[in-house]
Amino acid sequence: MWFFTDEQKELQNVCRSFAEKEIAPYAEKHDHDETFNIEAFKKMGELGLLGITADPKYGGAGLGAIEATIVMEEFGKACAGLTLSYLAHSMLCVNNISTNASEEQKAKYLPKLISGEQIGCMAMSEPGYGSDAVGMQCKAVKDGKNYVITGNKMWITNAQYADVIYLYARTGKEKKALTTFILEKDTKGFSVSKEIHKMGMRGSPTGELTFENCIVPESQRVGEEGSSIHHMMKNLDIERITISGISLGIAEACVQQCIKYSGERKQFEQTLANFQLIQKMIAEMSAETTMMRHFLYSTCKEYDLGIQDNVQAAKVKLQLPKMVTKIALDAIQLHGGYGYSREFPLEKYMRDNKLMEIGAGTNEVMIMIIAKNLLKEAMRG
Ligand SMILES: Cc1cc2nc3c(=O)[nH]c(=O)nc-3n(C[C@H](O)[C@H](O)[C@H](O)COP(=O)(O)OP(=O)(O)OC[C@H]3O[C@@H](n4cnc5c(N)ncnc54)[C@H](O)[C@@H]3O)c2cc1C
Repeated sequence: MWFFTDEQKELQNVCRSFAEKEIAPYAEKHDHDETFNIEAFKKMGELGLLGITADPKYGGAGLGAIEATIVMEEFGKACAGLTLSYLAHSMLCVNNISTNASEEQKAKYLPKLISGEQIGCMAMSEPGYGSDAVGMQCKAVKDGKNYVITGNKMWITNAQYADVIYLYARTGKEKKALTTFILEKDTKGFSVSKEIHKMGMRGSPTGELTFENCIVPESQRVGEEGSSIHHMMKNLDIERITISGISLGIAEACVQQCIKYSGERKQFEQTLANFQLIQKMIAEMSAETTMMRHFLYSTCKEYDLGIQDNVQAAKVKLQLPKMVTKIALDAIQLHGGYGYSREFPLEKYMRDNKLMEIGAGTNEVMIMIIAKNLLKEAMRG
């Protein structure tokens, strides 16, 4: 991007070569076996990437949405699954603790999460409450100096590996009475009750969490009781922007693979690159990728400058994943039968990217946010 600083370009180079060496060569195997590349994940800690936006006082890099998205794009190009786990750790757990927790809580959790000694997750969604997350039923009841937590959380990225859980629970009858807790995996009554097998993002572990009369001291509560709705919504903005970087990485990978294949594959005694229908596909997917890059990084820049709202984040999150699913389908088409086979990564790109239309808020929820903002007045009529 034209406005990247020298430091941002350097970060891009570091991430690109790390991804080519430590992520891409193992992506197919982890996808096939549904395993987590924990070695690469730990090395991200050595590179200082696990606390990319976190407070430098506790080992974080103190950077913004642009840098976080650069990492997502470069890693997403190599393996979207592992990158989703990186996002859950760095943006959903670490960034939330860094932004909302007390100094004592930051000192206790951030250094180990940022070095990679510990892995984090964020638990908001429930079996019966996804799009309507604010309706969540997992409850925390005050009992002296403790809280007793009971309920379930569904679809939690990194569940099986997480040492630290950033958890939202209900602490009152009013819809918005939500409170955050930091839980440790060996808390009595806590378990990962189910491993979830998925169509894509298979290199990212996903599970269901169960809390059975889990006793958590008051000191593990983040902020005031009932005060979490605002920061829960705020964190969704940076999640939606940065997760779109994974889609951008997938789009770039599709374009590169299509250019390569169209110069190698021959039909009717010519390379595919000579056929105008193939040229159209590649030209359009490249133009769309360039357009998405500008849209995404200018949104990141606005976010970092504090001049952007949740509607812009929803627009990015609606448009990028949707366009990239189409690009991945076109890339499969361009490869013919080979695109449909597992010999090439195109079908993985499509399966992985589909998640981006669902996780962090579905396309339909993004439409609701945008439409509500645009049509607030008109809807009163
Ligand atoms: C691989 C994966 C990883 C995830 N990681 C995490 C995580 O780490 N932490 C976490 O908390 N959550 C996580 N999630 C959960 C994710 O955020 C939810 O799946 C998502 O918000 C959708 O919720 P749902 O699956 O319950 O679908 P539902 O809310 O049941 O939606 C079903 C369908 O109805 C539509 N719909 C719902 N309401 C409306 C409406 N009002 N108008 C129109 N259409 C509507 C939806 O768009 C969707 O098409 C993850 C999910 C997946 C699949």
